[in-house]
Amino acid sequence: MEYCDYLGAEIQRTKTQEGANLEEITMKTVCQRVYDHYPDFDLTHKKDFIKSTVKSVCIILSFVSEFKNSWYVTPGMRQAKTHIEGPSLKLTKCLLGMNRRDIRMVTGLLTGHCHLNRHLQLIGIAEDPECRWCLEDEETSSYVLTECPAIARVRERHFGSSVLNPEDVKRMQPRKLCTFAKEFVPYWMLRIQI
Ligand SMILES: [Zn+2]
Repeated sequence: MEYCDYLGAEIQRTKTQEGANLEEITMKTVCQRVYDHYPDFDLTHKKDFIKSTVKSVCIILSFVSEFKNSWYVTPGMRQAKTHIEGPSLKLTKCLLGMNRRDIRMVTGLLTGHCHLNRHLQLIGIAEDPECRWCLEDEETSSYVLTECPAIARVRERHFGSSVLNPEDVKRMQPRKLCTFAKEFVPYWMLRIQI
């Protein structure tokens, strides 16, 4: 079964190639690499298995590539693009390991679609976008997470700095973001769905 490990490694290697051209990652190419790696073994009886595995992975890679492209070309999503690097399996796995309430909170803060006044004003629920904590600027998730002076001490305690930048938020572990936000986001904000 060693060739199975090789097949997995070959697919993984292809997946991690920066800027890999999926058009070139044909089933034939990957299959041939597996056969070439084991010239002394007859893998004919495993041909269907190898083909179906490669086909599945190619479909997944195409989907991921399409998703990444649409992330960059789709207009809007300003706050999400400010706080999220792009489609990420790692981020998805981290979020899926959290409870629903925390997932809602983190995704709301990262995308700006939450109970913050600027978003509530955009959807016609609030009249004033002003930050409820400092009354100095618009209450966007970016402002609250990185700049709001009223939350500076909480930031300092959690991250060692009173001010953050969007790159810090991009690198932040979802659980850490959640723990930080829970210190200043009122409990009712976490319960009510908009
Ligand atoms: Zn503020």
